[in-house]
Amino acid sequence: MSRRYDWLVVGAGFTGAVVAERLARGLDQRVLVIDRRDHVGGNAHDRRDEGGRLIHPYGPHVFHTNSARIFDYLSRFTAWRPYEHRVRGWIDGRLVPLPFNLTSLRLLFPETTAARLSERMVQAFSRDARPNIHDLRAAADDPDLRRIADYVFEKVFAPYSARQWGVPVGELDASVLARVPVVVGEDDRYFTDRCQAMPRDGYSALFVRLLDHPNIHVSLNTAMTEVEPTTWDRMVYCGPLDDYFGRSAGALPYRSVRFAHCAVDVREGLPVGTVNHPQAPDFTRVTDFRHLTGEAGPTTALVTEYPLAHEPGVTEPHYPVLSETSGRLADDYRAMARTLAGKVWFAGRLADFRYYNMDQAVGRALSLVDKALAPAVAGMAA
Ligand code: FAD
Ligand code: UDP
Repeated sequence: MSRRYDWLVVGAGFTGAVVAERLARGLDQRVLVIDRRDHVGGNAHDRRDEGGRLIHPYGPHVFHTNSARIFDYLSRFTAWRPYEHRVRGWIDGRLVPLPFNLTSLRLLFPETTAARLSERMVQAFSRDARPNIHDLRAAADDPDLRRIADYVFEKVFAPYSARQWGVPVGELDASVLARVPVVVGEDDRYFTDRCQAMPRDGYSALFVRLLDHPNIHVSLNTAMTEVEPTTWDRMVYCGPLDDYFGRSAGALPYRSVRFAHCAVDVREGLPVGTVNHPQAPDFTRVTDFRHLTGEAGPTTALVTEYPLAHEPGVTEPHYPVLSETSGRLADDYRAMARTLAGKVWFAGRLADFRYYNMDQAVGRALSLVDKALAPAVAGMAA
């Protein structure tokens, strides 16, 4: 049987779509992109709800990057709407800025105590520094710093993280909590990247443009096992790393989330994009999409996130759970993956088992094509 495709790309999220675009447009390859879901975009997919409001079914996706290369690349497929994400947290009955900053301190402590603690923070880290919670705890060599470090850890990080990840917070890789700093100043932006923006027409429109090429064929509602192996030469796999190997070395821990969507009168919307609830019993955060999308109207769409255990085949694997144990198991699978080099490449948040943001998934795809796939294509052509 003649092969119809040079490449099979499993997964139509950012990683798979960018790989497919580069292979097709950049290297003139014929590509079949499949996804077992009924849409492109992976977890970044967006759509309109029954009231016509743009929502992100898999939770809020805010684009931010320091990479001009990645931003310029995506700008070929979308215009942008500038957007700086702001988050508040309900802590002890008050709505305070997150990342936790000096304003949060003022809102939660008596005035004179807050002034003393703020001064101590500035002395220890310098004004506008952004230490992470581990740095803060490590530097807590006097009672004031220890008090702030313990407070922020106990009120902001420990309960939220335990619920989000379903493992004791001490077992998590340090990089997870380090994503969200403590701010020794008043900056209340959630991200400080140079480029912070939302695709003007939404993520799905961006994906449609990425994949719009005569060399690309997209097949939705299609799992890898349903594709006849004789129809393609080489594969880029963006699904869960352990799935590929039938979980033969054991299940890698992924975490899932139930997203509860609703619409409310705009007067009941949130003051900022997201409100985190570290002290809530079973959910982590609520997002009000009108801030992210810039859409106006009498109603607005909210989503509440309820973390839950991932069951392969039942729930979606939204996050890799990073710990020493999962890192070792992932390394075992990575060694198995390397034995397939030249035929199958693994890439993306699920297949690399890495906590990538969208820009990192794009960067991973671009460098995979440059460093591995383009040389493979050149070898094939030779
Ligand atoms: P995915 O988007 O997971 O795509 C993988 C695709 O592969 C899926 O569509 C899946 O259905 C498909 N697939 C898997 N196995 C198979 C198979 N066997 N056969 C066929 N198809 C298969 N990033 C940011 O930068 N900013 C944010 O604000 C942000 N917020 C987030 C909020 C939440 C709740 C979550 C879960 C993630 C968030 N992210 C955010 C991260 C972002 O979603 C990822 O970085 C990005 O989607 C990774 O793209 P990917 O292509 O690697 O993986
Ligand atoms: N985190 C927390 N409390 C917060 C915000 C974040 O404990 O109010 C921790 C938690 O472990 C979370 C991690 O920091 O999973 C990363 O937060 P981020 O907002 O980057 O999570 P994501 O948007 O990827 O879900």
